[in-house]
Amino acid sequence: MAESCYVHVPFCTHICGYCDFQRAGYSEVLCEKWLDALEKEIIGRKLPVNLKTMYLGGGTPSCLNLPQLKRLFTLLAPYTSHIEEYTMEMNPESCTEEVVKLAASMGVNRVSLGVQSFDDKLLKLMNRKHDKKMIQDSIDRLHRAGIHNISVDVMYSLPFQTIEQWMNTLEECVRLNITHLSMYSLTIEPGSAFARKNLKPQDSETEAEMYEKAIEYLNDHGFVQYEISSFCRPGLESRHNLAYWHYDDFIGLGLGASGKENHRRYDHLQGFQHYLNDPLNVKWIELSKEDEMFEMLMMGLRLKEGMSLSLFQQRFSCTFEQVYAEPVALCLKKGWIEFDGGKIKATERGFEILNTVLEEFLS
Ligand code: SF4
Repeated sequence: MAESCYVHVPFCTHICGYCDFQRAGYSEVLCEKWLDALEKEIIGRKLPVNLKTMYLGGGTPSCLNLPQLKRLFTLLAPYTSHIEEYTMEMNPESCTEEVVKLAASMGVNRVSLGVQSFDDKLLKLMNRKHDKKMIQDSIDRLHRAGIHNISVDVMYSLPFQTIEQWMNTLEECVRLNITHLSMYSLTIEPGSAFARKNLKPQDSETEAEMYEKAIEYLNDHGFVQYEISSFCRPGLESRHNLAYWHYDDFIGLGLGASGKENHRRYDHLQGFQHYLNDPLNVKWIELSKEDEMFEMLMMGLRLKEGMSLSLFQQRFSCTFEQVYAEPVALCLKKGWIEFDGGKIKATERGFEILNTVLEEFLS
C-alpha cells in the first residue's frame, strides 16, 4: 500500500528558460477547472488515509491565488491530518506572508524553494523572477511561520556560469538557515527557450568539476550527501524522495503526475483537455518482475547507503546475488560496487560512473 502521494500543480506565472515540465501559464479560470477535476480524481481514487508523506510539486504550487490554494489544501486535508512530512514547492517571488501562513496552518511542514542561483545575471538569463534578496526574505518568512525544514534547489553547468559563480551560490546557500539542498546539472530540453536560443551547458569536464567541488564544499559545511544530487543536515533527508529511491509504491495525482502501485506504473494523459474531461483516465504500464528488480537497483544505487538486500529478497522471493551473479562478480572485480551491512552500494568510483555500472546489470 502506497504511503506517499505526489500532487502535480501544473501552473506557473512565468516560464523558465530551461523548463520542459508539464505546466501552463497560471490562469484563474483554468485553475478553477483543474481544481474541479482534481477533486473528482481524489474522490474517485479512494486514497488511503494513512499516508506518511505528501508532496505538492509542479509547476509552482505557490502561484495559485489564496482561495484556490486553500481549496487545494482542503481537498487533501483528510489525507494529511496525520502526515509525517508535508512538502510544498515554492518560488521566492510567490513565497508571500499570506501563502506561507496558510501553508503552515494547513500542516505543511517542509518547503522546497526554487532558488537555482544567487547570481542575479544568471537568474535573469533563466527567466526567473526573483533576486538574491527575495531568497533570504523567503527563508526568514518560512522560519517565522514555523516551517523550519527548508530545502533549496540549485542548478549548475548553466550557460556562461563560472566555477566561482557556482561556488558563490553554494556559499550563500550554506549561510542560509536551511536543512536540505538538491542540485541539478542543466540539460537542454528540446522545446525549451534555451534550446531555441541555442544556449549550451558547460562542457563535461567543467560540469564534473562543479559537481566534485560542490560535494567537497557541502561536506565541509555540515551537509551530508545521501543521494547522488541530494544533501541534508544530519537526519533531515527528504522522506518523500526516499520512498522513490527505496522503490516503494507512490500515488501520483494531477495532470503531469505519475505513480506506481501494485506492480504497475501510470502516467496521466498529456494535455489539459484530457485531464479536465476525465481525470481518472491514466495510462497504465505493467511492470515485469525483471523490470521491477532492475528499477529497484537503479533507484537504490543512487543512495549513498545503497539498496537493502533483505528488502529485495522480501519483494522478489529470490536473493540479489542469485539474480545478478555475473554483473555482481564483474562490478566487484572492477571496484564499482561493494556489499556493506546488508546492502549493496556503489563505491566512490562506481558513484561517479553510475550509468556505466547500471548498464552491466541491464545487460
Ligand atoms: S517554475 Fe519550475 S515548472 Fe515553472 S517554468 Fe520554471 S522550472 Fe518550469
